[in-house]
Amino acid sequence: MKQNEFVLIKGTDYEEMTRKLLEEIDLAGMIGDRGKRIGIKPNLVSDSPADEGATTHPEIVSGLLSYLQEHGFSDLLVMEGSWVGSSTMNVMRVNGLDRVVRKYNVPFCDLQKDRTVIRETKGFSMEICETALSVDYLISLPVLKGHMQTRVTCALKNMKGLISNSEKRKFHRMGLHKPIAALNTVLRADLFLVDHICGDPDCEDGGNPEVRDVIFVCRDPVLCDAFACRELGYSVNQVEYIGLAEKYGVGSADLSKAMFRWIGEGETEDAERDHRTEALRAYIDEDSACSACYGMLMEALLVLDREGLLEWLPGKISIGQGFRGKTGEIGFGQCTGGFRKSLQGCPPTKEEAVRFLTELCV
Ligand code: SF4
Repeated sequence: MKQNEFVLIKGTDYEEMTRKLLEEIDLAGMIGDRGKRIGIKPNLVSDSPADEGATTHPEIVSGLLSYLQEHGFSDLLVMEGSWVGSSTMNVMRVNGLDRVVRKYNVPFCDLQKDRTVIRETKGFSMEICETALSVDYLISLPVLKGHMQTRVTCALKNMKGLISNSEKRKFHRMGLHKPIAALNTVLRADLFLVDHICGDPDCEDGGNPEVRDVIFVCRDPVLCDAFACRELGYSVNQVEYIGLAEKYGVGSADLSKAMFRWIGEGETEDAERDHRTEALRAYIDEDSACSACYGMLMEALLVLDREGLLEWLPGKISIGQGFRGKTGEIGFGQCTGGFRKSLQGCPPTKEEAVRFLTELCV
């Protein structure tokens, strides 16, 4: 599986979908040696069932454990430390993960009680759980969802469950962004199996789930979180820790270089979307556009396409940093502020983009 690749599946049998994804990417081949110790880190932030949009669906863990055992891996360990104020073991019971680990006879480590070691990185001194550092292959199972302080939480922030409670408190005192980015330079999962089933788009603690019924895998946590931003309608610039992690060399936030591959029923849907997206490029004049900005314009063009308005667009839409200080007819984003008609925003929101383009057509 390539570093810039996303493999996605849509449906409602989450356990079976997980197994299909893992077969598709040949996870067993990626891990290699059957003697490796494999750590599995779900997101069990608080005592809330998975269908509330805060915690990883236990069916995904079940699909992963059955896949790994069937492929000859026996040294497996599920581990998590819930947020300060919740007992991990209680969260596990509410989530239903306790039944899953019992079924597969796999140990669970409550990281709130684990020993820690100090790691120095990017000017921080961090207490990291010893067990998290002891595994040979780490699989992270974040929930793609919103967050009250950082706006978005997914791959990068899921690593915060692998530090001590006192370190978690320290992260919050430091405003989360810088320490989260730094943590990912010393603790990095090998694979991200992301629960995009019904994450709450606003709050990490759930309560207002938005059903998508998608599970996906990827390898780059920065790219994963850039995609999470797009899914939740934010630009990468609005979530500071993503850009910082990219600067620290953890991964790339450039979604324009990402490859998306749907399997199963989503395949046809995705192929159709790709075909439409390709056709829509004819309406865009691009020069060094940020991927979030380009993505917003593309999303808005897809809406116009669905509503049959595209033929009324008066001309190509210019977008990108290459248009700064220049003049022209129609521009998208504050870089095209000198154009006769320009939508401000850096980047504009999808709502603003749809309104702007629709007004151009009437
Ligand atoms: S307006 Fe310009 S700088 Fe801002 S997101 Fe768009 S392309 Fe990037």
